[in-house]
Amino acid sequence: MKNNPIIHSQSDSKKFLPIIGDLNPKKKLLIHSCCGPCSSTVLERLSDFFDITVFYYNPNIDSEEEFEKRYKEQVRLIEEMNLNIKTIKGEYDYNCFLNAIKGLETLGERSIRCYNCYKERLIATAKYAKENDFDYFTTTLSISPYKNSNWINEIGEELEKTLNISFLYSNFKLEDGYKRSIELSKIHDLYRQDYCGCIYSKRI
Ligand code: SF4
Repeated sequence: MKNNPIIHSQSDSKKFLPIIGDLNPKKKLLIHSCCGPCSSTVLERLSDFFDITVFYYNPNIDSEEEFEKRYKEQVRLIEEMNLNIKTIKGEYDYNCFLNAIKGLETLGERSIRCYNCYKERLIATAKYAKENDFDYFTTTLSISPYKNSNWINEIGEELEKTLNISFLYSNFKLEDGYKRSIELSKIHDLYRQDYCGCIYSKRI
């Protein structure tokens, strides 16, 4: 990975401010979000430093009903946090997910199936960021203890090179990021799903 800092918390501002430069105007950041609870800490930590748009793109979710439920909570959280953050709803097409993980269905959580799932969502995010003149893109995914931050940063770096759009490296789970997301979920009474998203992560 090149010399970019990895963002954990607001205290990291000293590390990443030299990278993003002047805050006036703030750089435009597109954040892929998997759900309201995971985005809560990330939005709290980054909103002072970036002009943020949330990209809710999750074709991995096993039903449209669940996709919509998580989306509504995402929108409600952003309204309640009152941070002047915009939201874009990505298309729900479960086939995009199925194609990305073809042949890997029987593998467990945290396997290469998840790598492909992260990658499918990050490709869509990077493309949207590039086509719509964002300065950076990133994802909330690294906040989860179940998600491999090294893989996420590896994919981001690859897309940064191939699509020529800067990636904000992250490991939001550090410095109690996940714990803070639980606190914020309680404060905002958010729906916290008990499975990652795909049918294979659901205990039936
Ligand atoms: S467990 Fe989560 S990250 Fe892994 S493939 Fe399923 S939805 Fe994607």
